[in-house]
Amino acid sequence: MIELILASGNSHKAQEFSELLDPKILTVKAAPHKLEVIEDGLSYFANALLKAQAYYKEFKIPVIADDSGLNVLAIPEELGIQSARFGGDGLKDSDRAHLLLKKMEGKPNREAFFTCVLCVYLNEKEIFYFEGRMNGSIGYDYRGEGGFGYDPVFIPADGGGELTVAELSDWKSKNSHRALAVSFAQKFFSQRS
Ligand code: IMP
Repeated sequence: MIELILASGNSHKAQEFSELLDPKILTVKAAPHKLEVIEDGLSYFANALLKAQAYYKEFKIPVIADDSGLNVLAIPEELGIQSARFGGDGLKDSDRAHLLLKKMEGKPNREAFFTCVLCVYLNEKEIFYFEGRMNGSIGYDYRGEGGFGYDPVFIPADGGGELTVAELSDWKSKNSHRALAVSFAQKFFSQRS
């Protein structure tokens, strides 16, 4: 069993991780305190590594970090690794989701996907990455109470219909980009001697 600290102050993510992990393989607990890490990498991988390195340097214990975002094909430059900052400072998650609906008005291609890259940083020489993806499209209205971020405006391709991820909390817990990346990590560490 490997004990990791989570390099994030996002309580939704911490909750999703603790529900996903099998404690016989990986356990994750909150870091002793949150660090402000400047996420100026050019990819999800680079940003996940920046967070993992910062927490490892500070606490000297194995770390799990994730970087994630929503990629919208019609406006490829606007979200992606910038998803948390879309629309600038001072916006709430729901403001960003509404802004996205506005920007999508009149756009015929509504395809989008979420990506999650996990970086498991055991020490300077043992660093592992896992990537999960959830395909879908941007809906036409804001619906649902579950999840966080862009969940109320994202309709997953495999969710069985027109429901948003925010209306599919149980489904999300097993099928999200984060759930898939975690399952790849668990599989890898369960087989590693
Ligand atoms: P991070 O904390 O740097 O990984 O930023 C990720 C951003 O992408 C979040 O602030 C959300 O806006 C968005 N995001 C990532 N994962 C999800 C998800 O599961 N649901 C909804 N939004 C997400």
